[in-house]
Amino acid sequence: MSTQSVNAQVDFDLPLQDTNLQAQLPSSIQQLQLRNVQVSADGLVLQINGIPKMSASRIASPDRIILDLQTTEVAPWIHNSLIAVNRYGVKQIRVAQFQKSPAIARLVFDLDNNSPASWQSSFDQTRGLLVLRPLGISGTSNNPSNLPVTGSTVANNNLATTIDGLSFNGYGQLVIQASRAISYRTSLDLATNTYNVTIPSTRISSQLRRPILGSNSPIEQIRLNQVGDAVVVSVKALAGWQIRETARTNTQAISLQLESVGQVATGNPQNPRSQIQPSYSNNNGRQLVVIDPGHGGPDVGATRNGVYEKDIVLAMSKQLGRILQQMGYSVMYTRTEDIDLDLEPRVQMAENARASAFVSVHVNSLDASASQVNGVETYHAPGASLGKNLAEFVHEQIIASTGATDRGVRSARFHVIVNTSMPAILVETGFITNPSEAARLVNSSYQERMAAAIAKGIDQFLRSYRR
Ligand SMILES: [Zn+2]
Repeated sequence: MSTQSVNAQVDFDLPLQDTNLQAQLPSSIQQLQLRNVQVSADGLVLQINGIPKMSASRIASPDRIILDLQTTEVAPWIHNSLIAVNRYGVKQIRVAQFQKSPAIARLVFDLDNNSPASWQSSFDQTRGLLVLRPLGISGTSNNPSNLPVTGSTVANNNLATTIDGLSFNGYGQLVIQASRAISYRTSLDLATNTYNVTIPSTRISSQLRRPILGSNSPIEQIRLNQVGDAVVVSVKALAGWQIRETARTNTQAISLQLESVGQVATGNPQNPRSQIQPSYSNNNGRQLVVIDPGHGGPDVGATRNGVYEKDIVLAMSKQLGRILQQMGYSVMYTRTEDIDLDLEPRVQMAENARASAFVSVHVNSLDASASQVNGVETYHAPGASLGKNLAEFVHEQIIASTGATDRGVRSARFHVIVNTSMPAILVETGFITNPSEAARLVNSSYQERMAAAIAKGIDQFLRSYRR
Protein backbone atom coordinates (compact mmCIF):
# COMPACT_ATOMS: atom_id res chain seq x y z
CA MET A 1 0.00 0.00 0.00
CA SER A 2 2.86 2.26 0.88
CA THR A 3 3.23 4.28 -2.30
CA GLN A 4 -0.41 4.70 -3.25
CA SER A 5 -0.76 8.18 -1.85
CA VAL A 6 2.58 9.70 -2.82
CA ASN A 7 1.45 11.15 -6.16
CA ALA A 8 2.32 14.72 -5.34
CA GLN A 9 0.93 17.60 -7.29
CA VAL A 10 3.74 19.43 -9.05
CA ASP A 11 3.97 23.05 -10.08
CA PHE A 12 2.26 23.41 -13.37
CA ASP A 13 1.05 26.27 -15.46
CA LEU A 14 -2.63 25.66 -15.83
CA PRO A 15 -2.52 24.18 -19.30
CA LEU A 16 -5.56 26.00 -20.59
CA GLN A 17 -4.67 29.62 -20.99
CA ASP A 18 -6.89 31.53 -23.30
CA THR A 19 -8.28 34.81 -22.09
CA ASN A 20 -10.84 34.76 -24.89
CA LEU A 21 -12.48 31.84 -23.17
CA GLN A 22 -13.56 33.92 -20.21
CA ALA A 23 -15.39 36.40 -22.42
CA GLN A 24 -17.24 33.61 -24.17
CA LEU A 25 -18.40 31.89 -21.01
CA PRO A 26 -22.17 31.76 -20.77
CA SER A 27 -23.53 33.80 -17.88
CA SER A 28 -25.87 31.09 -16.64
CA ILE A 29 -24.69 27.59 -15.85
CA GLN A 30 -25.84 25.25 -18.55
CA GLN A 31 -25.55 21.47 -18.65
CA LEU A 32 -23.00 20.54 -21.29
CA GLN A 33 -22.42 17.19 -22.91
CA LEU A 34 -19.05 15.86 -24.03
CA ARG A 35 -19.88 13.73 -27.06
CA ASN A 36 -16.53 12.75 -28.47
CA VAL A 37 -12.76 13.19 -28.15
CA GLN A 38 -10.66 12.95 -31.29
CA VAL A 39 -7.09 13.44 -32.39
CA SER A 40 -6.44 15.78 -35.30
CA ALA A 41 -3.54 17.53 -36.98
CA ASP A 42 -4.37 20.68 -35.01
CA GLY A 43 -4.65 19.20 -31.58
CA LEU A 44 -7.10 17.31 -29.45
CA VAL A 45 -10.69 17.96 -30.40
CA LEU A 46 -13.50 17.75 -27.87
CA GLN A 47 -16.99 17.68 -29.31
CA ILE A 48 -19.05 19.62 -26.77
CA ASN A 49 -22.04 21.96 -26.98
CA GLY A 50 -20.49 24.89 -25.12
CA ILE A 51 -17.47 26.04 -23.17
CA PRO A 52 -17.19 24.39 -19.78
CA LYS A 53 -15.37 25.87 -16.81
CA MET A 54 -12.13 23.90 -16.78
CA SER A 55 -9.53 23.08 -14.18
CA ALA A 56 -6.32 21.21 -14.81
CA SER A 57 -3.54 19.78 -12.70
CA ARG A 58 -0.40 17.92 -13.57
CA ILE A 59 0.63 14.91 -11.52
CA ALA A 60 3.99 13.18 -11.50
CA SER A 61 4.95 9.49 -11.57
CA PRO A 62 3.36 8.57 -13.81
CA ASP A 63 3.27 11.92 -15.55
CA ARG A 64 -0.29 12.90 -16.36
CA ILE A 65 -2.65 15.84 -16.67
CA ILE A 66 -6.08 15.71 -15.10
CA LEU A 67 -8.54 17.99 -16.84
CA ASP A 68 -11.95 18.47 -15.24
CA LEU A 69 -14.83 19.98 -17.20
CA GLN A 70 -17.42 21.39 -14.81
CA THR A 71 -21.19 20.95 -15.36
CA THR A 72 -20.40 18.53 -18.16
CA GLU A 73 -22.03 15.19 -18.71
CA VAL A 74 -20.05 12.50 -20.53
CA ALA A 75 -22.05 10.85 -23.30
CA PRO A 76 -22.59 7.20 -22.32
CA TRP A 77 -20.78 5.91 -25.40
CA ILE A 78 -17.49 7.52 -24.35
CA HIS A 79 -17.80 7.11 -20.57
CA ASN A 80 -14.86 5.01 -19.32
CA SER A 81 -13.26 4.99 -22.74
CA LEU A 82 -9.63 5.16 -23.63
CA ILE A 83 -8.41 7.06 -26.66
CA ALA A 84 -4.97 6.31 -28.04
CA VAL A 85 -3.23 9.55 -29.04
CA ASN A 86 0.51 8.91 -29.46
CA ARG A 87 1.28 12.51 -30.39
CA TYR A 88 1.52 15.96 -28.77
CA GLY A 89 3.38 14.29 -25.92
CA VAL A 90 0.22 12.41 -24.97
CA LYS A 91 0.12 8.62 -24.99
CA GLN A 92 -3.58 8.24 -24.37
CA ILE A 93 -6.60 9.96 -22.86
CA ARG A 94 -9.00 8.32 -20.44
CA VAL A 95 -12.49 9.79 -20.34
CA ALA A 96 -15.01 9.28 -17.56
CA GLN A 97 -17.92 10.84 -15.72
CA PHE A 98 -16.00 11.71 -12.57
CA GLN A 99 -19.00 13.03 -10.67
CA LYS A 100 -22.70 12.89 -11.48
CA SER A 101 -24.20 15.75 -9.52
CA PRO A 102 -23.00 18.36 -10.12
CA ALA A 103 -21.66 16.75 -13.27
CA ILE A 104 -17.91 16.76 -13.79
CA ALA A 105 -16.30 15.18 -16.84
CA ARG A 106 -12.73 14.07 -16.23
CA LEU A 107 -10.08 13.58 -18.90
CA VAL A 108 -6.78 12.06 -17.83
CA PHE A 109 -3.93 12.61 -20.30
CA ASP A 110 -1.20 10.01 -19.86
CA LEU A 111 1.95 11.83 -20.96
CA ASP A 112 5.18 10.72 -22.55
CA ASN A 113 8.59 12.42 -22.37
CA ASN A 114 7.79 14.95 -25.11
CA SER A 115 4.91 16.48 -23.25
CA PRO A 116 4.61 20.25 -23.74
CA ALA A 117 4.42 22.47 -20.67
CA SER A 118 1.32 24.35 -21.68
CA TRP A 119 -1.72 24.13 -23.87
CA GLN A 120 -4.00 26.61 -25.51
CA SER A 121 -7.69 26.18 -26.09
CA SER A 122 -10.10 27.60 -28.62
CA PHE A 123 -13.75 26.99 -29.29
CA ASP A 124 -15.44 26.63 -32.66
CA GLN A 125 -18.98 27.74 -31.83
CA THR A 126 -20.65 26.68 -35.07
CA ARG A 127 -19.37 23.13 -34.96
CA GLY A 128 -19.30 22.73 -31.19
CA LEU A 129 -15.63 21.83 -31.11
CA LEU A 130 -13.27 22.68 -28.28
CA VAL A 131 -9.69 22.38 -29.53
CA LEU A 132 -6.79 21.86 -27.14
CA ARG A 133 -3.53 22.74 -28.84
CA PRO A 134 -0.10 22.13 -27.35
CA LEU A 135 2.28 25.11 -27.40
CA GLY A 136 5.83 24.65 -28.57
CA ILE A 137 5.25 21.47 -30.53
CA SER A 138 6.28 21.87 -34.13
CA GLY A 139 4.19 20.83 -37.07
CA THR A 140 0.89 22.03 -35.71
CA SER A 141 -1.16 24.52 -37.64
CA ASN A 142 -2.73 27.54 -35.98
CA ASN A 143 -5.84 27.51 -38.05
CA PRO A 144 -8.68 25.85 -36.17
CA SER A 145 -11.24 26.74 -38.82
CA ASN A 146 -9.66 24.23 -41.22
CA LEU A 147 -9.69 21.58 -38.59
CA PRO A 148 -10.05 18.02 -39.80
CA VAL A 149 -11.99 16.13 -37.19
CA THR A 150 -11.70 12.50 -38.16
CA GLY A 151 -8.80 10.18 -38.69
CA SER A 152 -9.79 9.57 -42.28
CA THR A 153 -9.83 13.21 -43.32
CA VAL A 154 -6.23 13.72 -42.22
CA ALA A 155 -5.19 10.72 -44.27
CA ASN A 156 -2.62 11.12 -46.96
CA ASN A 157 -3.75 8.70 -49.61
CA ASN A 158 -0.28 8.26 -51.04
CA LEU A 159 0.88 6.34 -48.00
CA ALA A 160 -0.23 2.90 -46.93
CA THR A 161 -1.93 2.56 -43.56
CA THR A 162 0.40 0.80 -41.16
CA ILE A 163 -0.14 -1.25 -38.03
CA ASP A 164 2.20 0.63 -35.71
CA GLY A 165 1.98 -1.07 -32.39
CA LEU A 166 0.40 -3.35 -29.84
CA SER A 167 0.31 -2.43 -26.18
CA PHE A 168 -1.63 -2.98 -22.98
CA ASN A 169 -3.69 -0.10 -21.67
CA GLY A 170 -4.80 0.66 -18.12
CA TYR A 171 -7.93 -1.44 -18.48
CA GLY A 172 -6.19 -4.75 -19.14
CA GLN A 173 -6.92 -4.42 -22.84
CA LEU A 174 -4.59 -5.20 -25.71
CA VAL A 175 -4.69 -2.23 -28.09
CA ILE A 176 -3.79 -2.50 -31.77
CA GLN A 177 -2.78 0.93 -33.05
CA ALA A 178 -2.78 1.95 -36.73
CA SER A 179 -1.47 5.04 -38.49
CA ARG A 180 -4.94 5.87 -39.82
CA ALA A 181 -8.57 4.84 -39.57
CA ILE A 182 -8.99 1.08 -40.07
CA SER A 183 -11.77 -1.44 -40.35
CA TYR A 184 -11.43 -5.04 -39.23
CA ARG A 185 -13.11 -8.39 -38.76
CA THR A 186 -12.49 -11.03 -36.13
CA SER A 187 -12.67 -14.78 -35.78
CA LEU A 188 -12.04 -17.19 -32.94
CA ASP A 189 -10.21 -20.47 -33.48
CA LEU A 190 -11.66 -22.62 -30.70
CA ALA A 191 -9.18 -25.46 -31.19
CA THR A 192 -6.18 -23.29 -30.35
CA ASN A 193 -7.95 -20.55 -28.31
CA THR A 194 -6.59 -18.04 -30.81
CA TYR A 195 -8.38 -14.79 -31.60
CA ASN A 196 -7.67 -13.47 -35.10
CA VAL A 197 -8.12 -9.85 -36.11
CA THR A 198 -7.96 -9.24 -39.87
CA ILE A 199 -7.29 -5.63 -40.86
CA PRO A 200 -7.65 -5.06 -44.62
CA SER A 201 -5.56 -2.60 -46.67
CA THR A 202 -2.76 -2.31 -44.15
CA ARG A 203 0.82 -3.39 -43.73
CA ILE A 204 3.00 -4.02 -40.69
CA SER A 205 5.11 -0.99 -39.76
CA SER A 206 8.87 -1.53 -39.86
CA GLN A 207 8.94 0.16 -36.44
CA LEU A 208 6.23 -2.03 -34.93
CA ARG A 209 6.01 -1.73 -31.13
CA ARG A 210 5.11 -4.90 -29.25
CA PRO A 211 4.40 -5.57 -25.58
CA ILE A 212 6.68 -7.75 -23.50
CA LEU A 213 4.65 -10.68 -22.21
CA GLY A 214 5.38 -11.57 -18.59
CA SER A 215 5.96 -15.19 -17.58
CA ASN A 216 2.50 -15.23 -15.96
CA SER A 217 0.72 -13.40 -18.78
CA PRO A 218 -2.60 -14.92 -19.84
CA ILE A 219 -1.47 -14.35 -23.43
CA GLU A 220 0.70 -17.16 -24.73
CA GLN A 221 1.62 -15.64 -28.07
CA ILE A 222 0.95 -12.68 -30.35
CA ARG A 223 1.71 -13.05 -34.06
CA LEU A 224 1.36 -10.63 -36.95
CA ASN A 225 1.20 -11.85 -40.53
CA GLN A 226 0.88 -10.03 -43.82
CA VAL A 227 -1.76 -11.94 -45.80
CA GLY A 228 -2.15 -10.28 -49.18
CA ASP A 229 -3.04 -6.65 -48.49
CA ALA A 230 -4.30 -7.42 -44.98
CA VAL A 231 -2.54 -7.70 -41.64
CA VAL A 232 -3.72 -10.57 -39.45
CA VAL A 233 -3.04 -10.22 -35.72
CA SER A 234 -3.36 -13.58 -33.95
CA VAL A 235 -3.58 -13.57 -30.17
CA LYS A 236 -3.35 -16.95 -28.48
CA ALA A 237 -4.65 -16.98 -24.91
CA LEU A 238 -3.97 -19.57 -22.23
CA ALA A 239 -6.70 -22.09 -21.45
CA GLY A 240 -9.18 -20.47 -19.07
CA TRP A 241 -8.82 -17.06 -20.74
CA GLN A 242 -10.75 -15.48 -23.56
CA ILE A 243 -10.57 -12.36 -25.68
CA ARG A 244 -13.41 -10.19 -26.86
CA GLU A 245 -13.61 -6.95 -28.80
CA THR A 246 -14.75 -3.75 -27.11
CA ALA A 247 -16.80 -0.83 -28.38
CA ARG A 248 -14.62 1.36 -30.57
CA THR A 249 -13.88 4.89 -29.45
CA ASN A 250 -11.10 5.57 -31.91
CA THR A 251 -11.07 4.71 -35.61
CA GLN A 252 -7.30 4.18 -35.54
CA ALA A 253 -7.31 1.58 -32.80
CA ILE A 254 -8.82 -1.78 -31.88
CA SER A 255 -9.05 -2.73 -28.21
CA LEU A 256 -9.32 -6.35 -27.14
CA GLN A 257 -10.47 -7.23 -23.65
CA LEU A 258 -8.85 -10.16 -21.87
CA GLU A 259 -10.99 -12.07 -19.41
CA SER A 260 -10.77 -15.22 -17.38
CA VAL A 261 -13.43 -17.84 -18.03
CA GLY A 262 -15.15 -19.65 -15.19
CA GLN A 263 -14.48 -23.37 -14.79
CA VAL A 264 -18.21 -24.06 -14.85
CA ALA A 265 -19.48 -24.38 -18.41
CA THR A 266 -22.16 -21.80 -19.17
CA GLY A 267 -23.33 -23.25 -22.46
CA ASN A 268 -22.42 -25.54 -25.30
CA PRO A 269 -18.64 -25.17 -25.58
CA GLN A 270 -18.85 -25.89 -29.31
CA ASN A 271 -20.99 -22.83 -29.75
CA PRO A 272 -18.77 -19.76 -30.21
CA ARG A 273 -21.57 -17.48 -29.03
CA SER A 274 -21.60 -18.93 -25.55
CA GLN A 275 -17.81 -19.13 -25.59
CA ILE A 276 -17.39 -15.39 -25.99
CA GLN A 277 -19.87 -14.33 -23.31
CA PRO A 278 -18.08 -11.90 -20.99
CA SER A 279 -17.10 -13.81 -17.87
CA TYR A 280 -18.42 -11.11 -15.57
CA SER A 281 -21.97 -11.46 -16.80
CA ASN A 282 -24.19 -12.07 -13.80
CA ASN A 283 -26.93 -13.52 -15.99
CA ASN A 284 -25.62 -17.01 -15.44
CA GLY A 285 -26.57 -16.80 -11.78
CA ARG A 286 -23.00 -16.83 -10.54
CA GLN A 287 -21.78 -14.06 -8.29
CA LEU A 288 -18.90 -11.92 -9.44
CA VAL A 289 -15.84 -11.14 -7.35
CA VAL A 290 -13.52 -8.36 -8.53
CA ILE A 291 -9.89 -8.97 -7.55
CA ASP A 292 -7.60 -5.96 -7.45
CA PRO A 293 -3.86 -6.67 -7.39
CA GLY A 294 -2.35 -3.46 -5.97
CA HIS A 295 0.06 -1.16 -7.81
CA GLY A 296 1.65 -2.21 -11.15
CA GLY A 297 3.92 -0.81 -13.86
CA PRO A 298 6.17 2.00 -12.60
CA ASP A 299 4.34 1.91 -9.26
CA VAL A 300 6.11 -1.09 -7.73
CA GLY A 301 4.50 -0.74 -4.29
CA ALA A 302 6.44 -1.81 -1.23
CA THR A 303 9.91 -3.09 -2.06
CA ARG A 304 12.86 -4.72 -0.32
CA ASN A 305 15.96 -6.40 -1.80
CA GLY A 306 14.70 -6.18 -5.37
CA VAL A 307 11.37 -7.83 -4.51
CA TYR A 308 8.31 -5.82 -5.50
CA GLU A 309 4.87 -5.78 -3.92
CA LYS A 310 3.27 -5.47 -7.39
CA ASP A 311 4.64 -8.89 -8.43
CA ILE A 312 3.73 -10.72 -5.22
CA VAL A 313 0.15 -9.43 -5.22
CA LEU A 314 -0.38 -10.19 -8.92
CA ALA A 315 0.71 -13.81 -8.43
CA MET A 316 -1.44 -14.12 -5.30
CA SER A 317 -4.44 -12.55 -7.05
CA LYS A 318 -4.28 -15.00 -9.95
CA GLN A 319 -4.23 -17.90 -7.48
CA LEU A 320 -7.19 -16.34 -5.68
CA GLY A 321 -9.13 -15.97 -8.93
CA ARG A 322 -8.48 -19.55 -9.96
CA ILE A 323 -9.69 -20.87 -6.58
CA LEU A 324 -12.82 -18.69 -6.62
CA GLN A 325 -13.62 -19.95 -10.13
CA GLN A 326 -13.29 -23.53 -8.92
CA MET A 327 -15.79 -22.62 -6.20
CA GLY A 328 -18.20 -21.49 -8.94
CA TYR A 329 -17.73 -17.72 -8.80
CA SER A 330 -17.17 -15.42 -11.74
CA VAL A 331 -13.96 -13.47 -11.42
CA MET A 332 -12.73 -10.24 -12.92
CA TYR A 333 -9.28 -8.77 -12.36
CA THR A 334 -8.49 -5.06 -12.40
CA ARG A 335 -5.16 -6.00 -13.96
CA THR A 336 -3.61 -9.23 -15.18
CA GLU A 337 -0.38 -7.67 -16.40
CA ASP A 338 2.37 -5.53 -14.96
CA ILE A 339 0.72 -2.29 -16.01
CA ASP A 340 0.21 1.15 -14.56
CA LEU A 341 -3.35 1.58 -13.33
CA ASP A 342 -4.96 4.44 -11.44
CA LEU A 343 -7.18 3.81 -8.45
CA GLU A 344 -10.36 5.21 -9.98
CA PRO A 345 -10.52 2.81 -12.98
CA ARG A 346 -10.22 -0.07 -10.50
CA VAL A 347 -13.31 1.22 -8.71
CA GLN A 348 -15.13 1.84 -12.00
CA MET A 349 -14.50 -1.70 -13.22
CA ALA A 350 -16.12 -3.14 -10.10
CA GLU A 351 -19.01 -0.67 -10.30
CA ASN A 352 -19.68 -1.23 -14.00
CA ALA A 353 -19.61 -4.99 -13.57
CA ARG A 354 -21.91 -4.81 -10.51
CA ALA A 355 -19.60 -7.04 -8.52
CA SER A 356 -20.85 -8.81 -5.39
CA ALA A 357 -17.55 -8.29 -3.60
CA PHE A 358 -14.27 -6.46 -4.14
CA VAL A 359 -10.92 -7.52 -2.72
CA SER A 360 -7.71 -5.53 -3.10
CA VAL A 361 -4.50 -7.46 -2.42
CA HIS A 362 -1.44 -5.69 -0.99
CA VAL A 363 1.85 -6.21 0.84
CA ASN A 364 2.83 -4.02 3.78
CA SER A 365 6.10 -2.31 4.67
CA LEU A 366 7.74 -0.29 7.42
CA ASP A 367 11.12 1.36 7.99
CA ALA A 368 14.21 -0.79 8.33
CA SER A 369 14.18 0.06 12.05
CA ALA A 370 10.88 -1.82 12.41
CA SER A 371 11.90 -4.98 10.59
CA GLN A 372 10.62 -7.13 13.47
CA VAL A 373 7.01 -6.12 12.70
CA ASN A 374 5.10 -8.81 10.80
CA GLY A 375 1.56 -10.03 10.28
CA VAL A 376 -1.68 -9.57 8.40
CA GLU A 377 -4.12 -6.65 8.48
CA THR A 378 -7.51 -6.72 6.77
CA TYR A 379 -9.16 -3.38 6.04
CA HIS A 380 -12.70 -2.22 5.39
CA ALA A 381 -14.01 1.31 4.82
CA PRO A 382 -15.02 3.20 7.99
CA GLY A 383 -18.68 2.62 8.79
CA ALA A 384 -19.12 -0.09 6.13
CA SER A 385 -20.89 -2.86 8.04
CA LEU A 386 -20.94 -5.38 5.18
CA GLY A 387 -17.34 -4.57 4.37
CA LYS A 388 -16.45 -5.16 8.02
CA ASN A 389 -18.33 -8.44 7.92
CA LEU A 390 -16.43 -9.56 4.81
CA ALA A 391 -13.13 -8.45 6.38
CA GLU A 392 -13.83 -10.51 9.51
CA PHE A 393 -14.60 -13.69 7.54
CA VAL A 394 -11.48 -13.32 5.39
CA HIS A 395 -9.16 -12.29 8.21
CA GLU A 396 -10.17 -15.21 10.40
CA GLN A 397 -9.46 -17.66 7.58
CA ILE A 398 -6.06 -16.12 6.83
CA ILE A 399 -4.89 -16.26 10.45
CA ALA A 400 -6.14 -19.83 10.90
CA SER A 401 -4.61 -21.07 7.67
CA THR A 402 -1.27 -19.24 7.47
CA GLY A 403 -0.43 -18.86 11.15
CA ALA A 404 0.60 -15.27 10.43
CA THR A 405 0.62 -12.73 13.26
CA ASP A 406 -2.88 -11.33 13.78
CA ARG A 407 -2.72 -7.54 13.42
CA GLY A 408 -6.47 -7.32 13.31
CA VAL A 409 -9.41 -6.19 11.21
CA ARG A 410 -9.10 -2.44 10.75
CA SER A 411 -10.82 0.42 9.00
CA ALA A 412 -9.11 3.00 6.79
CA ARG A 413 -10.00 5.37 3.99
CA PHE A 414 -8.20 3.59 1.15
CA HIS A 415 -9.61 4.89 -2.14
CA VAL A 416 -10.61 1.54 -3.64
CA ILE A 417 -12.60 0.38 -0.60
CA VAL A 418 -14.14 3.75 0.26
CA ASN A 419 -15.41 4.41 -3.27
CA THR A 420 -16.77 0.99 -4.18
CA SER A 421 -20.46 0.45 -3.41
CA MET A 422 -20.28 -3.33 -2.90
CA PRO A 423 -18.71 -5.03 0.18
CA ALA A 424 -15.01 -4.26 -0.26
CA ILE A 425 -11.82 -5.12 1.60
CA LEU A 426 -8.11 -4.52 1.29
CA VAL A 427 -5.83 -7.27 2.59
CA GLU A 428 -2.29 -6.41 3.67
CA THR A 429 -0.95 -9.95 3.37
CA GLY A 430 2.29 -9.40 5.29
CA PHE A 431 5.37 -7.20 5.74
CA ILE A 432 8.02 -7.26 3.05
CA THR A 433 10.28 -5.49 5.56
CA ASN A 434 10.28 -8.49 7.89
CA PRO A 435 12.88 -10.94 6.52
CA SER A 436 11.09 -14.17 7.41
CA GLU A 437 7.67 -12.92 6.31
CA ALA A 438 9.20 -11.60 3.05
CA ALA A 439 10.60 -15.07 2.39
CA ARG A 440 7.14 -16.59 2.86
CA LEU A 441 5.41 -13.95 0.70
CA VAL A 442 7.52 -14.81 -2.36
CA ASN A 443 6.96 -18.54 -1.86
CA SER A 444 4.29 -19.80 -4.26
CA SER A 445 2.86 -22.40 -1.88
CA TYR A 446 2.49 -19.74 0.83
CA GLN A 447 0.86 -17.47 -1.77
CA GLU A 448 -1.55 -20.25 -2.61
CA ARG A 449 -2.37 -20.85 1.07
CA MET A 450 -3.04 -17.12 1.47
CA ALA A 451 -5.19 -17.09 -1.69
CA ALA A 452 -7.18 -20.14 -0.58
CA ALA A 453 -7.86 -18.56 2.82
CA ILE A 454 -9.06 -15.31 1.24
CA ALA A 455 -11.29 -17.29 -1.15
CA LYS A 456 -12.77 -19.32 1.71
CA GLY A 457 -13.56 -16.15 3.67
CA ILE A 458 -15.20 -14.52 0.64
CA ASP A 459 -17.22 -17.68 0.01
CA GLN A 460 -18.41 -17.82 3.65
CA PHE A 461 -19.39 -14.17 3.53
CA LEU A 462 -21.28 -14.41 0.22
CA ARG A 463 -23.12 -17.54 1.39
CA SER A 464 -24.25 -15.87 4.62
CA TYR A 465 -25.09 -12.68 2.74
CA ARG A 466 -27.33 -14.56 0.27
CA ARG A 467 -29.51 -16.02 3.01
ZN1 LIG B 1 0.19 -1.65 -1.52
